[in-house]
Amino acid sequence: MYDYFVCPHCHHNLVGEEGIQERSRADMGHLSCSGCASRFPVEEGIPDFLSHVVREHAQEGVAVDLHNAVTLFRREIDPESKLSGRLFDQDVKSTDASFLDIGCGIGRHLLVLRNNGITNMLGFDIMPELVHTARKEYAVKNVFVANASRIPLRNESIDICLLYNVIEHCSNPAKVLEEVHRVLKKEGILYMDVPNGRSMGDRIFRWGGIVFYGKTSHIQTFTFDKVSRLLRNAGFEIKAQKTARGIFINYPQLERFGWIRKTVTILFGNEVSGWEFKLGKTH
Ligand SMILES: [Zn+2]
Repeated sequence: MYDYFVCPHCHHNLVGEEGIQERSRADMGHLSCSGCASRFPVEEGIPDFLSHVVREHAQEGVAVDLHNAVTLFRREIDPESKLSGRLFDQDVKSTDASFLDIGCGIGRHLLVLRNNGITNMLGFDIMPELVHTARKEYAVKNVFVANASRIPLRNESIDICLLYNVIEHCSNPAKVLEEVHRVLKKEGILYMDVPNGRSMGDRIFRWGGIVFYGKTSHIQTFTFDKVSRLLRNAGFEIKAQKTARGIFINYPQLERFGWIRKTVTILFGNEVSGWEFKLGKTH
């Protein structure tokens, strides 16, 4: 994993210190930048690219109730599953490609990759608690703490990037996509999704957060046009696309009562809950 790293600030090489070799990850040490001399701690094998500065969580839309979020994330995980139900499932069979899961949380997608025999994978999240849970509870390796708007990886070093449930949480989605474009190889693929800001599901999520916690972690709202423009400007083209339908997708037993869906849709807005994309680079 250390071969991929560069300094998130100046993109110079990082120099290891004793104790952070791949073979002795359990030791504690630092990575040091050969350019700007920034130092990044490595604790129990987890490099933390954010701890040296004031935590950047304040401006990003991170989970408003971390404990609750982790409980929900655990429920979503089947540690044995080989399928994510996402578009990237088609690209995980017997591949040597390098994967990067941006906003990996407690390891939901990394586990799917691992169950498909993929070893060349990295993941990071802005919340150290989630990264530590991925490592401790699910034995997911090659995870670190970083901000998606300053990815500490080399230019054009990754074949396949995953960006699920992320950009709606970011203060600067354009910057995140610019960074993904930078680390992705020329022929690389980006898989990502965004919620429809006009959907009932996203509205309930945002309003619920504000009512119960006084804030929401979805600090961006997207329409299809807005996300298309964002992707085009960042140098991506859509290769495949999937539309997720309604929050009813989570409650199939309600599908029988079509009138409920119609009524709620009329009252609360668009039934399309979000879009998933498979993207390539245009330059
Ligand atoms: Zn540096």
